[in-house]
Amino acid sequence: MSTPKRLVVAIDGPAGSGKSTAARRLAQRLGYTMLDTGAIYRAVALIARERGVSWDDEAGLAGVAGGLEVRFAFEGDVNRVFLGAREVSAEIRTPDMNEGASRVSRHPAVRAALLDLQRRLAAAGGVVAEGRDVGSVVFPRAEAKFFLSASPEVRARRRFDELRAAGHEVAFAEVLQDQVERDRRDSTRATAPLCQAEDALEIDSSALGPDEVVARMEAIVRRHCRGE
Ligand code: C5P
Repeated sequence: MSTPKRLVVAIDGPAGSGKSTAARRLAQRLGYTMLDTGAIYRAVALIARERGVSWDDEAGLAGVAGGLEVRFAFEGDVNRVFLGAREVSAEIRTPDMNEGASRVSRHPAVRAALLDLQRRLAAAGGVVAEGRDVGSVVFPRAEAKFFLSASPEVRARRRFDELRAAGHEVAFAEVLQDQVERDRRDSTRATAPLCQAEDALEIDSSALGPDEVVARMEAIVRRHCRGE
């Protein structure tokens, strides 16, 4: 039997669509690595902060992005993120870095500098890439592309449950309102707005659990692997 092809799988979608969970589980089931592109934008924000480069300094940030050495490695259920030998998994997931990633990702020169890095990380195949533009811009020739969606109410409900579980006293109406506003910004921004690649298969996760979403994706990827 020939060795199955190791593909590049692209998963895009808005916050709360369940794409991170789906990408992680799919990568584990296939024995692939997971390329978390949001983590790369977060790492740029972290290093910029440490070097005193402003999140508004496009040229300075492009310099940081161009020199980044990122590596991902699964440990159990956690996709750990390394810069060289240093692990930054926890440091990049603070509220400050949420804001930083969103600020640095707006600059075209930063996005351009990261294109090459993302493509190098996926050069050998066997990668599930997850983000906002991986199917449309970064890997236009990915063999399998998915766009995960869910209704605004369902996505807001997931975020609300997460916030409550973390001990934050928030109102559902407020979370929903924030989300509607964020969706509007994300899909109308000038640089790399969130959009579905023409050849991406949309999966609406509103009424599906994570296992069902992953099972659908896995079946499709395995068909591609067999060349069907
Ligand atoms: O997915 P995550 O929340 O970690 O992404 C952090 C930020 O990075 C997002 O808010 C978005 O602004 C940016 N991002 C992006 N393009 C990607 C992935 C993330 O602009 N492919």
